[in-house]
Amino acid sequence: MTEATLLEPCKDVKAFLNSDLKLLINGQRVSSASGETFEVLDPSNNSVLTRVPKGGSEDIDRAVRAARNAFETGPWRKLTVSERGKLLWKLADLIERDLEIFAQLESLDNGKPLAIARAADVPLTIDHFRYYAGLATKIHGETLDISVPYAPGAEFFDFTLREPIGVVGQIIPWNFPLLMATWKLGVALAAGNCVVLKPAEQTPLSALKLGDLFVEAGFPAGVVNIVTGFGDTGAALAEHNDVDKVAFTGSTEVGHKIVQASAGNLKRVSLELGGKSPSIVFADADLELAAQGVANAIFFNHGQCCCAGSRLMVHSKVYEELVERVADTAKKIKLGPGMASDTDMGPLVSREQQERVLKYINSGLSNGAEALAGGGIPKGLDAGCYISPTVFNRVTQGMQIVQEEIFGPVLAASPFEDLEEAIAKGNDTEFGLAASVWTRDINKAHKVAKGLKAGTVWVNCHNIFDANAPFGGYKKSGYGREMSLHALEMYTQVKNVIIQIH
Ligand code: ADP
Repeated sequence: MTEATLLEPCKDVKAFLNSDLKLLINGQRVSSASGETFEVLDPSNNSVLTRVPKGGSEDIDRAVRAARNAFETGPWRKLTVSERGKLLWKLADLIERDLEIFAQLESLDNGKPLAIARAADVPLTIDHFRYYAGLATKIHGETLDISVPYAPGAEFFDFTLREPIGVVGQIIPWNFPLLMATWKLGVALAAGNCVVLKPAEQTPLSALKLGDLFVEAGFPAGVVNIVTGFGDTGAALAEHNDVDKVAFTGSTEVGHKIVQASAGNLKRVSLELGGKSPSIVFADADLELAAQGVANAIFFNHGQCCCAGSRLMVHSKVYEELVERVADTAKKIKLGPGMASDTDMGPLVSREQQERVLKYINSGLSNGAEALAGGGIPKGLDAGCYISPTVFNRVTQGMQIVQEEIFGPVLAASPFEDLEEAIAKGNDTEFGLAASVWTRDINKAHKVAKGLKAGTVWVNCHNIFDANAPFGGYKKSGYGREMSLHALEMYTQVKNVIIQIH
């Protein structure tokens, strides 16, 4: 890596990093109650990018009170749905204006290639807010014909109101820091809720920047509050008795804790958790397309996607050929800092994540799995949190690398003999987030899509997202759907009104 290929952050990003970053509570920039801050690291070299407030339970409490006031007595609920939509659209315009700033912050903070942040993370964010800006004016109840058999002759008019839930706590992960915040904020606000957002401790920067734009767009004070901090800060939000709903994206392990924490006031919960998604390639597939597609399925975002195609299952007839092609692709991936123009894959988000992924690679190796590509830390990049794109050959179902979510660029490949075996193996983990099927046969595509227990099935593609396409899990991958009209179910409640007409 030569210095010359590294892009300098632009002056706005430098100014942001050098500013005194604060929490956003009740429309004000404030320090944490304790006054404590913590370091935010650049995972490409572990240097300190900046510091952010270490919010604690007192800050969560302040933020929840602000959100409650905004919900019950502030101007927010008095806005027309059209005005609400306009605010969200304005926010999208502001993000578009600052696209480069967001892309650079995301790349520096998370490690992802700048080109990807520019082309995917930020444009998807803008589009997502516009989708929910449009949806704000289309949320509605229904009229119902009711019979009431025990009141013969009586006449009723029954209608439903679809109302916001109230104060929503949102806890997000570090793999797509801006986009994950967006998936949660867009729908919550379109539906009229007030929010306390807790970004991941590894990647708090884009959420704090987004907070500035909420203020600039003119959202009333307290409608969106942002509290940076660690797991205990998230826990304080999940267990707070004045939070009506908590939405979480992260590990299945923390998902369990969120459910337990929600028990106090029986708050509503939605969970988007881990995955171990299979890419299933049949012998009749376009092998070139499939090889490229399954490589992207696992290596996109360095495998740090909950829907990463981390298990590759290939029909035995084409197994060797396809797996070899994927291994070749893995070997050619150029590792480097996200801010370098020639980087295909950046570092993982943190040393902790690098160590976690390395542990899984070592477990694969010690269980006898052969690494056709990668298999450890790349040479010469020790300062950063890099892992070589790794392809394990002929793994068996019982291996840890086949059953557990690794959240890194590690693929576990195995052959199958027929469609039934493909479906059975595809379903043979505790997760059920996503899958992809690669075939030219429409019948196979339908059969496998139907047979898989997964929230999303892609055919001849993988990692395709759109604001209008629902996303969420079966089994231990969670419950509730994000994006699309379906997400409204998690952010609204139905009130039934029955009027007797005399
Ligand atoms: P990872 O292990 O990959 O960092 P986590 O599931 O631990 O993923 O973290 C996802 C988000 O959940 C982060 O914002 C983190 O701070 C938060 N978090 C961690 N532990 C808890 C907890 N016990 N309660 C609520 N939130 C938590």
